Amino acid sequence: MPDPYLDIRELRTLLDGGQCSASELVEAHFARIEHINPRLGCYLRLHEQAARDAAADADARIAQGERSPLLGIPIAHKDIFCTKGELTTCGSKILEHWRAPYDATIVERLAQAGVVVLGKSNMDEFAMGSSNENSAYGPVANPWDESRVPGGSSGGSAAAVAAGLAAAATATDTGGSIRQPASLCGVTGIRPTYGRVSRFGMIAFASSLDQAGVIARSAYDVALMLRAMAGFDTRDSTSNERGVEDLDDLIANDGALSSANLRIGLPREYMDALKSAGYAATLDAARCELESLGMRFEDVSLPSTFAAIPAYYVLACSEASSNLSRFDGVRYGHRGEDAESLEEVYRSSRSEGFGAEVKRRILTGTYCLSYGYYDAYYKKAMRVRRVIRDEFARAFESVDVLLTPSTPGIAFKRGELAGDHIAMYQQDCFTTPAALAGQPCLSMPCGFDGGLPLGAQLIGPHFSDARLLGVAHAFQQATDHHRQRPAL
Ligand code: GLN
Repeated sequence: MPDPYLDIRELRTLLDGGQCSASELVEAHFARIEHINPRLGCYLRLHEQAARDAAADADARIAQGERSPLLGIPIAHKDIFCTKGELTTCGSKILEHWRAPYDATIVERLAQAGVVVLGKSNMDEFAMGSSNENSAYGPVANPWDESRVPGGSSGGSAAAVAAGLAAAATATDTGGSIRQPASLCGVTGIRPTYGRVSRFGMIAFASSLDQAGVIARSAYDVALMLRAMAGFDTRDSTSNERGVEDLDDLIANDGALSSANLRIGLPREYMDALKSAGYAATLDAARCELESLGMRFEDVSLPSTFAAIPAYYVLACSEASSNLSRFDGVRYGHRGEDAESLEEVYRSSRSEGFGAEVKRRILTGTYCLSYGYYDAYYKKAMRVRRVIRDEFARAFESVDVLLTPSTPGIAFKRGELAGDHIAMYQQDCFTTPAALAGQPCLSMPCGFDGGLPLGAQLIGPHFSDARLLGVAHAFQQATDHHRQRPAL
């Protein structure tokens, strides 16, 4: 079996050179998944036949001389993305038996690029959570320490990539769900600029914040995947018309940035709030590394950073309360039995179908939007959002990129924060601000504390996705944090 930790470029060389076929790669992955997944719970289900068929097709195309970066590469899709004819549960019991009638745009685009989809990855129910403990189908364990969480809500995607069970995985980020699990699992994940990747066929949590992205083992691999996913889509009204030339240039340049003289800002508020000395030292080392690559650092201030968590939870819950009203047991999804009236259908279907965290958010959001409270909560949160966005815009007048911690610390123990949802929400304190402002941002491995991975977050101006990936790639060329593997 080929090394399960090869990156996409290395796999490409093997596939195109005939040293390994896509079919062999699929079988090797299924064998490894069968062995490891029962412990980790990354995959909710496998698409065995479809994966074998796609691999056979990729092999035929490669044999005919076709050359394409993702042809035959095995990946996982987060179970929030619709996959035609296949179960798509969004981590919820309410969609336990639901088969999507169409493919999400990104699923379609990646299929056109020739990927092989191994299966669907586990996640917090409706992407609400930071530990993957809110999945109706069981938790996911962190491959670096199985007593710890992988982060959430894209915990299955991050853990699968970290455990060598997929070369890359799709993911979504509403307030941190790509960056936080990527950080806790020692892999690289990008939340692209809002509007860069279509949301069509991605089950909605909070539409003004939801963004599709990707998790992989290197920044370069992330760029290859993002290139295939990004771009305008008429089926998503918030999708941006901007093209993907910047990603094409980055890939054509082998990941190298056009300019090494970038100015990097260190937001004082983030650094001051970081309690972990080990983490601070790791970020400092990352800073030195980037300085030696020619980047210059300066302090910046983003004073409203810590208003982001309360604003995010008001806005995200408000939007969720509206988006999730479609799950009423009438047209699809779970329907409660023995209901004698329409209201009873709604009540029983939703009571039985949704988990506790989802219910908490629907209730919170409904309250925030209700007559008499709307101004005090929703409107005020919208104003905070504007202030945060303006502060980022001001910071980007003097710097090109921001460097911050991705999370407050290393992965926490399973169950540790389960009873304290405020403490759980605080796990997103460094990731929600950029989400509210729609900035592109990524997390890349930057070191370890007690054997557990830590991530550094890069945040950039709108549509600087390729620049962020270029900085991360330069960092990864000079370091090997992203090459470390858990002892599974
Ligand atoms: N952890 C955050 C939440 O629970 C973010 C989730 C996400 O980005 N989907 O809302």
